[in-house]
Parts: sequence; C-alpha cells; structure tokens
Amino acid sequence: MEEWQKQLRDSLRTPEEIADRFHLNQDEVRKICRVFQARITPHYAGLIKSKKDPLYRQVVPDAAELKENSGANDPLSEDLDSPVPGIVHRYPDRLLFLVSPACASYCRFCTRKRKVGQPDKISARHIEGGLQYIREHPEVRDVIVSGGDPLMMVDDKLEAVLSALRAIPHVEIIRIGTRMPCFLPQRVTPKLAAMLKKYHPLYVNVHFNHPDEIDAEAAKALGLLADAGIPLGNQTVLLKGVNDSPEVMKRLMRRLLTVRVRPYYIYQADYVRGTDHFRTTVEKGLEVMEGLRGWTSGLAVPAFVIDAPGGGGKIPLLPNYIQAINEKEVVMRNYAGEVFVYPQTKARKRPAVHPCLPVTSPM
Ligand SMILES: *Cc1c(COP(=O)(O)O)cnc(C)c1O
Ligand code: SF4
Repeated sequence: MEEWQKQLRDSLRTPEEIADRFHLNQDEVRKICRVFQARITPHYAGLIKSKKDPLYRQVVPDAAELKENSGANDPLSEDLDSPVPGIVHRYPDRLLFLVSPACASYCRFCTRKRKVGQPDKISARHIEGGLQYIREHPEVRDVIVSGGDPLMMVDDKLEAVLSALRAIPHVEIIRIGTRMPCFLPQRVTPKLAAMLKKYHPLYVNVHFNHPDEIDAEAAKALGLLADAGIPLGNQTVLLKGVNDSPEVMKRLMRRLLTVRVRPYYIYQADYVRGTDHFRTTVEKGLEVMEGLRGWTSGLAVPAFVIDAPGGGGKIPLLPNYIQAINEKEVVMRNYAGEVFVYPQTKARKRPAVHPCLPVTSPM
C-alpha cells in the first residue's frame, strides 16, 4: 500500500470519528452525513487550527447544510447536458468526463454534492461508454477528466483512461481537474508525475481556496507536476468565511504563483442545495477582482465567472472600467480610479451604440 492510500484509509470517515476529532455532537453529524458525504484526510485535518479556521469550514459538516432547502440539487443542469452517463457535453469543442465518484475529502460547498461519493451516480462502469462517445464526436478536441477526483484512481486505472483518450486522434488536449494536491498531496508521487508526462499535452487544474492550504507538502506535489512539464491552473470558489476578502484572495493568488500555479478561475458559489451559508453577493466577487487587477501581477488575476444556473455555462464578470464610449473616444478609469481617454480611429463607421454594451450604459 502506498503512503497516499494509507492516508486515505486513515481519513476521518465516520460521523463518530469526525464528531470526536472536532468535539461535535455525534447525532448531529450523523444526520448530516446521511444526506451528504463527509471525509477529511489526516493531511488536511492537520492544517486545521481552530473551529474558526477557513479550512475547518470547508470540510467539517455543518448543521446549516440541512436547514436550507432552496438551492438546486443540480444547479448547472448538468444532467440535461449529459448524452451518456459520465459525460457532460455543453460547449461546442470540449466536455467533462466524470471518471471517479470519490474525493479524498468532501467539500461542504461542492456543486456535485448530490453525486460525489456515490458510485451509483458517477461510476467507473461508465468509462467505456464515455470513451466511445468521445470517439464518435470528432468536434471534441479538449477532454476535462473530472469526477469526483480522477486522482482517486490508482495509477494503472488512470493511465488506462489517459492512454485511451490519447489514442483518439481528434482529442488535442487532456485536462485533469483535481483537489488532491490540496487534500492529499502525498498522492502526487514521482511515479504518478512520470506517468502523466507520457500523455502531453496534458493540463492539470487544481483547487485551492485559501493560502494556508499551500503548505510544504502541497508545494512539493505541485513542484513534481510542474517539473513534469504540466501547466498548472487553479480554480477557486468564492466562499463566505473562507476567502471573501480582497486581502485573502490576493495572498492566495500570489502564493499560487510562487508554486508555479497560474490562477485560472474564481467562481461565484453555485446555488447548490445545502450550501447557502457559503454564498456571498456577486458584488463581493467584483470587489475581489478590483482588489487584484493593477494591485498585483497580472499573472495573479484569474477570471471571475458565474456558472449560469440552468446550464448556460461560465459567464465572465468584470468591474466596469468603461465610463463612456462613443465614435470619438473611450473614457475609462484605471485600477486606482483615475480617468483616461483613448481616442478612437476615424477610419471606419461604427454603430452608435456598441453591440457589446447594454443600451442603458451612460453614453
Ligand atoms: C467548466 C466547464 C468546461 C470547461 O470550460 P473552460 O472555460 O474551457 O475551462 C467544459 N464543460 C463544462 C460542462 C464545464 O462546466
Ligand atoms: S474536491 Fe471537487 S468534486 Fe470533490 S467534493 Fe470538493 S469540490 Fe466536490
């Protein structure tokens, strides 16, 4: 058994183990775990300093999960965009391929809260069918291997998926979405990195929400992946009580760059059943973006997106930097609020109102 498998075996898994470790009421934790999966790796539990810790909030079951019933089970309508089990095909040229139901720890705010950890919802049984679907769809040039967490599979099983994907001529790039470098960095072994390297061009998107999650072990795991030539991106979820401040986000983004991870997306929290206590206003996300752009390296500035309810896909939101735009000029403000004017070219006729701007914008 490898070190990471031992860590998984020694995770806090039962409601009793979780309640004991964090001095909670066993009955209450049991009630929550009947509805939503819970698991916490020793590595991540070891990073938690107190009940107020932003890391605690992400993984320890909270009674608030059962108190609120307004959110959706499938907020992004992924099930409607699923032509065969295990595939979510929403965009013209790329799709999600869900290969593993399990995660090393379960995030309390997970968008697939209804599915993760349940082998009847996401299953290795569907891998062959998913591969067949990709083979039959030549427009698919980018496959995002996801779950659950694909790195929960042992090396051989994961390699079987990657090599089958690589054998499909129209699959140009493969991406893996994983939270392992955060929850269980021991999973990233030199052997894993050497295996992944065979399937380039391969990208890995990781998931960190707070700078304290990037300890020496996580940095080492990310270093192994980067040394294997794998471009690393990070997806962060904007979460109340975890990272809903420009200051924390700036620290997180800068810290990611020091471990060779390029911030990719900040997500507005999806409207998932049982997660309302994590949601912030959308304005908070815009405030975070204002606090990044210009104030720190452009490399540290990801895109802020809302994954539109009902299956609209990711929609980028930006603070408004345009104050006026017409035939003659664009009036803009910079990151510090100073106003600048860019003169338009006279060469071509352009519409009186730019089609990309709402008609109500100040002209
Ligand atoms: C996020 C997502 C993708 C990938 O989107 P990118 O913007 O290309 O990273 C693809 N399919 C689905 C269903 C998604 O949710
Ligand atoms: S690691 Fe990802 S898929 Fe797994 S519980 Fe967290 S958010 Fe959900």
